[in-house]
Amino acid sequence: MTKVTEHIRAAEGQTLFTIEIIPPLKGQNIQQLLDSIDPLMEFKPPFVDVTYHREEVIDKQHPDGLIQRIPVRKRPGTVGICARLMERFKVDAVPHVICGGFTREETEDMLFDLHYLGIDNVLVLRGDPEKSAGVFKAKEGGHAYASDLICQVVDMNRGKLLHEETEATPTNFCIGVAGYPEKHFEATSFDSDFDYLKRKVDAGAEYIVTQMFFDNQKYFQFVERCRAEGIMVPIIPGLKPLSTKKQLSILPRIFHLQMPSDLVQEAEKCESDKDVRQVGIEWGIQQCKELVSYGVPVLHFYTMGKSDNVLQIARGVF
Ligand code: FAD
Repeated sequence: MTKVTEHIRAAEGQTLFTIEIIPPLKGQNIQQLLDSIDPLMEFKPPFVDVTYHREEVIDKQHPDGLIQRIPVRKRPGTVGICARLMERFKVDAVPHVICGGFTREETEDMLFDLHYLGIDNVLVLRGDPEKSAGVFKAKEGGHAYASDLICQVVDMNRGKLLHEETEATPTNFCIGVAGYPEKHFEATSFDSDFDYLKRKVDAGAEYIVTQMFFDNQKYFQFVERCRAEGIMVPIIPGLKPLSTKKQLSILPRIFHLQMPSDLVQEAEKCESDKDVRQVGIEWGIQQCKELVSYGVPVLHFYTMGKSDNVLQIARGVF
């Protein structure tokens, strides 16, 4: 399988089109997901990211009134979906590998699953906190930060396993990480956030994918600061088209970003979400054209289960 960095090198400066998908809710049809991204294959994404979702603890009430706390993973199947994507679309799959909810040993087992499937790319993340907890807590025996998980993957790439004395067959993972043009919400300052990002790259990350942003200036400033700090790996912009009026408040709250006032004003004027969707598409096309002129290696779209607007943006750009 081809590494993300090799795809970028092979493109020789041409901007690539790629997507991120999320596994369906447990019990829903995988076919629907595959069919929804099928039209996007027109733009030949060389790789597709698949998110990973940790278990959430829920309270289940029994008929006798007893309440039981049980762990439930609402969106299982990341590894299976990766296999299915590779088979159906002949793309490279990039599973997200998270710290949350995993011990180091469980992580090692998962990395073996990926290795045996021929997957050579991973996006390494700390992962979101449990919704019920609000703050991130590592599982006992697990990693607390993405940089620690990167070290484990790098060790496997060198043939070093957690508890084996003898050298193992090395894996060959290309490691991507997350970056935040508008700062990670927990970071006390931009300075500390850049220090930790640099730590991830120094530990072995070979490229960065950014959190979504709607104002290109934030991305340009982020790239400049990275370069000034000596972070020289490719920085892939993550993009999500605005599609409903509600998102004007939801996206800033969840993803800790600022919406440009021009975009907010245009969306506020709309009478229906259908019109907002159109505003989002037009904004997305302009945003992407500017990013392409800037020379971004990839336009990476967060599809979140919907692809028609991403399709229209891609048609307006490529
Ligand atoms: P880290 O790099 O570990 O950083 C977390 C915070 O700790 C930051 O504030 C950082 O500044 C600070 N920090 C880092 N290292 C240290 C250290 N050694 N000591 C003290 N502080 C430190 N979440 C999911 O659950 N599943 C997914 O599939 C998923 N995919 C994502 C894809 C992308 C492109 C992005 C941008 C985010 C994704 N997320 C996903 C969300 C992500 O897991 C959260 O944003 C999470 O809060 C941080 O993850 P991270 O890998 O950036 O963490």
